[in-house]
Amino acid sequence: MTENCIFCKIAAGEIPSAVLFEDEDFRVILDVGPAAKGHMLVLPKQHFANLYEMPDELAGKAFILAKKMARKMKKALNCDGINVLQNNGEAAGQTVFHFHIHLIPRYRNDMLKIGWKPGELTQSDKAELLKKFEEE
Ligand code: 5GP
Ligand code: ZN
Repeated sequence: MTENCIFCKIAAGEIPSAVLFEDEDFRVILDVGPAAKGHMLVLPKQHFANLYEMPDELAGKAFILAKKMARKMKKALNCDGINVLQNNGEAAGQTVFHFHIHLIPRYRNDMLKIGWKPGELTQSDKAELLKKFEEE
């Protein structure tokens, strides 16, 4: 447990939360500031700040659990769609620096805005990016 991490405390049950699922590695809880009714968070019990820090096996388990919860969400809420979001770093909108996956139920015409204005993949950007990733 990392001191002063709210999600460590929630995952350990030290701070109360609405728990939808729990196993030895994870807790799935309702978000207290939901984008939509039923917005949930998949939290590992161990502290990792973001996706890059997660061990492969635990990262794999987290996304498999997100899939399982998405199926449950679809059935329980009869939603039309689900956004699966995972923010890494302040620039990407992360506000709690303990890895988590968001699942947000969506309904046709729900007016929720999660998105971006599409840009353009130029030939030079494409060449530059292909080269950068080749170098990795
Ligand atoms: P992030 O912006 O880091 O991807 O998402 C953090 C999420 O955690 C937000 O959606 C926020 O509403 C939620 N959150 C922050 N503090 C608490 C809390 O104490 N309990 C619960 N259940 N959710 C929290
Ligand atoms: Zn933590």
